[in-house]
Amino acid sequence: MSRSFNFNPGPSTLPLSALQIAQQELLDYRGTGMSILETSHRSKEFKTIHDDTKSLLRELLGIPEDYAILFLGGGASLQFAMIAMNFIPKKKSADYVVTGAWAKKALQEANIIAKGNVAASTESENFGRIPESSELNLDPQAAYLHLTSNNTIFGTQWHHFPKTGSTPLIADMSSDILSREINVADFDMIYAGAQKNLGPAGVTIIILKQNLADKANSDLPTMLSFKTHIEKDSLFNTPPVYAIYVTKLVLDWILQQGGVKAIEKQNNEKAELLYSCIDQSDGFYRGTASKDSRSKMNATFRLANEDMEKEFLAKALDHELKGLKGHRSVGGIRVSMYNAMPVQGIETLVNFMKTFQTNHQ
Ligand SMILES: *Cc1c(COP(=O)(O)O)cnc(C)c1O
Repeated sequence: MSRSFNFNPGPSTLPLSALQIAQQELLDYRGTGMSILETSHRSKEFKTIHDDTKSLLRELLGIPEDYAILFLGGGASLQFAMIAMNFIPKKKSADYVVTGAWAKKALQEANIIAKGNVAASTESENFGRIPESSELNLDPQAAYLHLTSNNTIFGTQWHHFPKTGSTPLIADMSSDILSREINVADFDMIYAGAQKNLGPAGVTIIILKQNLADKANSDLPTMLSFKTHIEKDSLFNTPPVYAIYVTKLVLDWILQQGGVKAIEKQNNEKAELLYSCIDQSDGFYRGTASKDSRSKMNATFRLANEDMEKEFLAKALDHELKGLKGHRSVGGIRVSMYNAMPVQGIETLVNFMKTFQTNHQ
C-alpha cells in the first residue's frame, strides 16, 4: 500500500487508523452480519454510534449541557440559509464579518432571506487579513454576528474572537473545528461541514445553544427548522449514517492523541515549520496572508511567477505531495494541514521546498 501526503482542502486527509477500522468493520459490523452502510438509522447499533459521537464531541470540545449537537445533511452551505431563516426575526437584520469567499456566501444567503449587514470586510485587501475587533461596526439590534473562524481559501484565521455582549455569536468553523482549544460558551452556535477537519463529506455538525434555538422563527418548512432537528435528535429523517460513523472514528483518534490540547500543540508545530520555511526563503516563497492573521490550517503562498508555480506543483507530485494547488481566486500554492496531516508530511514538504528553491537560484 502506498499513501500520499494529501494536502487537499476538503474532502481531505483522514487518520489512517480510522480508515483501517472502517475497513475492518465494513462488511460485518461487530458481529451483526451487515455493514453500517446497510444498517437502519433506528437500530441499536446506530443509536450507540450516534450517542458516542455526541459524547465524544462534548468531551473533546467541552460543550456545555445547554447546547444541542446536531448532525445534518446539506453541507455548511445549507447552514448559511438555515441560520438566516431561523434566527433573523421579521424586519430585522444580522451582522456579518466578510473575511473570505465562504463568509461572503453566508452573507449573500442572508440577503436572499432577510437582511445581512457587513460589520467589516477585508475584500478590498483580497481578504489577506482578519479585521481587528475595533474595526467591527456592530449593530446592537442585530439578530446575531456571523463570522468564519478560518478562511480556507485565503489562508487566514481568527486568533481572538470579538466580544459581542448580548448579541449571539455564530461561527462557521468548517475548516478549523477541533484544531485548537476554544471556549464553546463564547459562541451561541458553531457549525462545520465534516469534510475538512472532522470526517468524510455528507454530514454537518451543529452545536447550538438552547437559548438561541428557543428564539427561532417558527413558520419554516419542517426540514429547515432547527426546532425539528433538536426535538427529533437529528433523526427526523435519515441522517448521513456512514459519515457520522467515520466521524466517530476520527473523534476516537483525537482522544487517543491526547485530545484537542495535544492536537493543537502538533498543529502549532506544523504551522511553525512551514511558515519559518516561507519566512526564511528571502522572498522566494511569498505568504499571501498578513502574519498576524495567518491560518494554522491552510497556508497560502506564491512563487515568482505562474510557470514556476506550475513546476513546483508538478515536482511535488514526484514526492507524493498532492493537493497543493491554490484556489483559483488566490492562485499559487495552498497547504492544507488539518489535524490528520502528520508532522512528517510537513517535514517532507519543507525539505522539498528547500531543495526546489536551491535548484532555482
Ligand atoms: C468548505 C467550506 C464551506 C462549504 O462547505 P460545504 O459542506 O461544501 O457546503 C463553508 N465554510 C467554510 C469555512 C468552508 O471551508
